[in-house]
Amino acid sequence: MNLLYNSTRNTEKKVTASEAVLKGLAEDGGLFVPEYIPKLDVTMDELKTMSYQETAYAVMKQFLTDYTEEELKHCISSAYDEKFDTEVIAPLVKVGDTYHLELFHGATIAFKDMALSILPHLMTTAAKKNHVTKDIVILTATSGDTGKAALAGFADVPGTKIIVFYPKGGVSRIQELQMVTQKGGNTSVVAIHGNFDNAQNGVKAIFEDRELEQELADKGYQFSSANSINIGRLVPQVVYYVYAYAKLLENEEIAPGEEINVTVPTGNFGNILAAYYAKQMGVPIAKLICASNENKVLFDFFQTGVYDRNREFKLTSSPSMDILISSNLERLIYTIAGQDAAKDAELMTQLKENGVYEITDQMREKLNDFAGGFATEEECSAAIRRTYETTGYVMDTHTAVAASVCADYRRKSGDEKKCLVASTASPYKFIHSVMTAIDEKYASADEFQLIDELSRISQTDVPRAVEEIRSAPIRHHRECDADTMKDTVKEILGV
Ligand SMILES: *Cc1c(COP(=O)(O)O)cnc(C)c1O
Repeated sequence: MNLLYNSTRNTEKKVTASEAVLKGLAEDGGLFVPEYIPKLDVTMDELKTMSYQETAYAVMKQFLTDYTEEELKHCISSAYDEKFDTEVIAPLVKVGDTYHLELFHGATIAFKDMALSILPHLMTTAAKKNHVTKDIVILTATSGDTGKAALAGFADVPGTKIIVFYPKGGVSRIQELQMVTQKGGNTSVVAIHGNFDNAQNGVKAIFEDRELEQELADKGYQFSSANSINIGRLVPQVVYYVYAYAKLLENEEIAPGEEINVTVPTGNFGNILAAYYAKQMGVPIAKLICASNENKVLFDFFQTGVYDRNREFKLTSSPSMDILISSNLERLIYTIAGQDAAKDAELMTQLKENGVYEITDQMREKLNDFAGGFATEEECSAAIRRTYETTGYVMDTHTAVAASVCADYRRKSGDEKKCLVASTASPYKFIHSVMTAIDEKYASADEFQLIDELSRISQTDVPRAVEEIRSAPIRHHRECDADTMKDTVKEILGV
């Protein structure tokens, strides 16, 4: 029996997993959700000795039921290979009294690689299964991490092209160099004269342009999306929570059945939602601790039941969490509304029209699995410095938000359960903020000057991704105005 998917805003129309992966977003604007969360059908004892790839199969087969065993195993082995700099794919490192699950060992040294290295394979497999013969064109607007991870994932994947738009001047120097040096005959990178919102709105407008869709179809192309609302990004993220628990057990850090807490540095709510799904699959997780930076919309939501995006947008040193609309939260809203699509649609309309909504008391009661916290810029820097001074371990700014919130939660709640921290980026990626947190003397240094210094003080090798951009030739020079994005896409595709 296939597990089917429906939109959070309409439970009538069902699609298969592969159809949901291909579509990305439902036509009514809702997000695809599985009809129910499947239970693990292997025991923790069995999971304990499994490799990352074996765990990925055990988890993903429960969700992506219309993929054959052969198809899914092929997707997994093509994704989790030597692109990662460690065989274990997601290492678990004990840092002080917490366990860091390092999700940054892939091609672009941020956790987006965990899902974006497999999404292209899930998508091209889905295209074959559904007899799609057109080439898939991935359009992505990025504020940094997603764009590069998507480029790396889709580069030279047959049957696909990828075009990434980023705001000129709106990403870190390392992030920009990572993108403009991207290899692959099917990749294009365009700097737009505007901010991230302009880029995102431009991409949305292109997706909604029915005339362009037809022109493209005539040339053998169709658009798709690689952003984090695609179920093909969410499901692969469930894997590493199952894997981490099994490894804690194998290493005898926890006893069989022992509950742990999980803290996740959160922006779009995708990563923590995956942890919630892992819990529902049967992993003994007690609290899911949602860590925000100073853009603390989610913290306020967990405190009050009111989601309010009407506030000042703050630029922080954890830019991948600088978000006021957490798209994936809609999946949680749908769940706590008792899978009531009408209620979900009503709240999402309020969010769109007024920027605010309030959930019912009954819905709030179902949020008990979650705790919210946030860290200020000072708290984030202090966590980096303190951890370095006491353990020698250097973490990135996003992970530091989570580490700070985790410690704060422990102190305030007295909850002494062991805690897993999702470590979402390599410190090399946000090197300037990280090094300055450790010592003010680095504040005036150039990012590239700091690379060897970080390697020295943390006793870690410079990641391949950073080594590469030091000398890689720039391959992408294209720039355009925000209002000429459509023409740029047509030019790139020769339409
Ligand atoms: C994207 C990102 C996050 C936020 O993850 P969500 O799934 O959007 O909540 C946190 N840290 C880093 C480094 C990221 O790139």
